[in-house]
Amino acid sequence: MTGTNHAVDRTRVLTGDTPTGRLHLGHYVGSIENRLRLQEEHECYFLLANLHAFTTRANKPDEIRRDTIEIVKDWLACGIDPERSTIVLQSEVPAIAELTWFFAMLLPFNRVMRNPTLKTEIEAKGLGDQYPFGFPMYAVGQCADILVFRPAFVPVGVDQVAHIEMCREVARRFNQTYCAVDPHTEDEDHPARGGVFPVPAALVGRVGRLIGTDGRQKMSKSLDNAIFLSDTPKQVKKKIGAMYPGQSRQPDEPGDPDINPVFTYAEIFIEDTACVADLKDRYRRGDNIGDGHVKAAVIEAVNDLLEPIRARRADYEKPGGDDLIIDIIRDGTARANTLAEETLWRAKEAMRLGFWRRSLGAAT
Ligand code: ATP
Ligand code: MG
Repeated sequence: MTGTNHAVDRTRVLTGDTPTGRLHLGHYVGSIENRLRLQEEHECYFLLANLHAFTTRANKPDEIRRDTIEIVKDWLACGIDPERSTIVLQSEVPAIAELTWFFAMLLPFNRVMRNPTLKTEIEAKGLGDQYPFGFPMYAVGQCADILVFRPAFVPVGVDQVAHIEMCREVARRFNQTYCAVDPHTEDEDHPARGGVFPVPAALVGRVGRLIGTDGRQKMSKSLDNAIFLSDTPKQVKKKIGAMYPGQSRQPDEPGDPDINPVFTYAEIFIEDTACVADLKDRYRRGDNIGDGHVKAAVIEAVNDLLEPIRARRADYEKPGGDDLIIDIIRDGTARANTLAEETLWRAKEAMRLGFWRRSLGAAT
């Protein structure tokens, strides 16, 4: 950190996952790979967005609690290092809830409801008009999740880019409204001109949107189309084996790899590009290649990727594993609260709400 008032640490990173289920391959290629790279050089905060999970599963608190722990196991199994990165439990960072309230005043209601990410989610999850008030509110809350850490980057999948855009808007608006930042100021200059918040950039992963095993929607925890990082070799085989290849053909009939989602996986997960090119070529020509053959190659590649992750995960599945996870979350959240409280204080001062400073009690 530079230590200068309102200066931003350019290297800070925030991202997170909602505990609506275990992590899947879409998370891995969309965001986790980036996190592993970023934690080498940056100050990383990884948020367990457990309050957001209540937007669609308010009646399932036990599942949310279980998935919160399971996601941390997935992170650690992938190689997230709690010594270098800070793992944060959203529900124990009061500054996030408070900033959400502040930001809700700066975002027009219709602007929130027009957010394309929200619209897509409402449709994909079949929420109709029955979603709670808290569902659109989570889009506002996500601005607070991010900005409370004043990060430079937010590694996300493509589906989240519209949310990040809203977060960028709210950062600009806050800085203009309460910190006298000129509206013509370039995004990167906001902190230097006295803005409390940086205007953070989305960082989309190697694969912005991994398709699900249904071959239609994005792979998603809530859509029953995911290959989980913790799936057994048998489950991976079954899920990929059951994928519809987009067409019906015999091994000696020409096929179109471009409409076959199994080939999408081949391109992403088979490291040997010559092998993928050969599979595609033979498929196009109908050179004695059945769909089972392509699937077998993909199953092997996915299992190779998941094997070391499964092995590391097994360590946390032993007795006492959950306690270890809770210790990690508690330590990370305490560190995160130091930064979050500082951000909140700066925001309150800017809003003329800075009557006195407070200190949070220690975790017990
Ligand atoms: P839910 O169905 O509950 O919304 P999800 O599978 O979409 O769950 P999130 O917790 O919403 O997972 O997303 C966590 C991060 O992973 C986000 O940055 C999101 O963009 C990214 N992500 C999720 N699914 C994919 C995917 N299929 N491809 C690429 N990135 C993804
Ligand atoms: Mg999602």
